[in-house]
Amino acid sequence: MGLYFGVDVGGTQIKFGHFSKEGILLEKWIADTDLTEAGNRIIPQVAEEIRDFCKRKKIDSTEISGIGMGIPGPVDKNGYVKKSVNLHWYDFNPVEILRQEFPGVTVEAGNDANVAALGEYYAGGGKKYSSMMLITLGTGVGGGIILNGNVLLGANGIAGEIGHITVDPGESDACNCGNHGCLDQFASANGLVRIANRLTKERKTESPLQNIKNFTAKEICGLAGQGDKLCIKCLEICMGNLGHAMAEFTHAFDPEAFVIGGGVSRSSELILPIIQKAYSEKLHLIEKGADIVIAQLGNDAGITGACLQVLHK
Ligand SMILES: [Zn+2]
Repeated sequence: MGLYFGVDVGGTQIKFGHFSKEGILLEKWIADTDLTEAGNRIIPQVAEEIRDFCKRKKIDSTEISGIGMGIPGPVDKNGYVKKSVNLHWYDFNPVEILRQEFPGVTVEAGNDANVAALGEYYAGGGKKYSSMMLITLGTGVGGGIILNGNVLLGANGIAGEIGHITVDPGESDACNCGNHGCLDQFASANGLVRIANRLTKERKTESPLQNIKNFTAKEICGLAGQGDKLCIKCLEICMGNLGHAMAEFTHAFDPEAFVIGGGVSRSSELILPIIQKAYSEKLHLIEKGADIVIAQLGNDAGITGACLQVLHK
């Protein structure tokens, strides 16, 4: 006994991690997600991958103690998934199916963003704190809230889905959710590109960005780092909105720390001062507020948290 696995189930790839009983990542691998048969092949595929791993390592699969999964979509405390668009799952319980594959093994599942937050809480940027919120700045903006070691799920499983809170009600573009002025439209990689596009069209400031076709968030951050005024302005708008939103989260549930992750967080030296300034200017009831730190686990946050939800059950 004593073998643990963390599995981050995504719509294109499934990430696997093999962990010690102390939650240390020993080995990881990736497989392309088998989306055939309306997503019904995914859990058998997870089971096969883990069995193949055990075979390769000459380990008896009866030594497996726990498997945790992160799922893109709301997951209730029993592992039930009402809808996961990316995995084509509707009214589905992946935990029950995986338990049938591994009788006697502890199997757990949680929403992927919440699970990543749990990873950062126990093993990454949030280790020092008893409460924290992970804010992931990737293609979209995601979030997960941990209070005293527990994921805050909420009544409908959407607690922490902060990408779709309104930060600019006057925004003319619609968000993909149908709302206008969502945080996702600013603080995500797509949001940075959208705002930079708007600024380049205004042509108030000259920028090398105007000569790059289909520029990326990475290029915006790169130019901002070189002092480009338009790109700095773009970051000020986008990360300013994030900082203001974080002040609202502090007023709502007052976490000890915000842990910022995702691709955009790689430009921490550029974005942190802007976020901190915007956050502080909205706090009047308290002196300092939460610590704002950068996530530490990178792409391993999902598999680590998936495993830790089993170990800390
Ligand atoms: Zn939205």
